[in-house]
Amino acid sequence: MPADPAASSQKAIRYAPVCPDCRGQWLQLNGSCPECGGCVLQPVPLAHHIPCAGVFEAPEGLAAVERCPKCRRRDVADSDHLEAVGEVYHCLDCSAHFPEPVMRLYCRDCDFNHRFADVGFEVIRASSQAEGPVDA
Ligand SMILES: [Zn+2]
Ligand SMILES: [Zn+2]
Ligand SMILES: [Zn+2]
Repeated sequence: MPADPAASSQKAIRYAPVCPDCRGQWLQLNGSCPECGGCVLQPVPLAHHIPCAGVFEAPEGLAAVERCPKCRRRDVADSDHLEAVGEVYHCLDCSAHFPEPVMRLYCRDCDFNHRFADVGFEVIRASSQAEGPVDA
């Protein structure tokens, strides 16, 4: 009896992104600015002041908020009325603010961030096992 349950036609495969320029497979997911495509991004926490439902950026963190820009109360950081509700991103290249970075794939070989639409995906078959027919 063969002990390997995966020894039949079931082969593990994975999809691998392939660089459109150099065909390299060392691609890494990278967030980028939707305005200029820059990748030097700074996440900025968003604070939610629960009593007035104000949402605003807190670049120094929630504990450093001195007052709510919406209702102008000053006791916000000490109270438990402030909660974190995600973050926005600042592009340090063009100083745009945006809620979600655009995902790109960074190729280590080209040193370039490719758009998803440009990157091809190839099926890579697991090659740890022998490729030939398995003895019955
Ligand atoms: Zn930018
Ligand atoms: Zn407020
Ligand atoms: Zn490349």
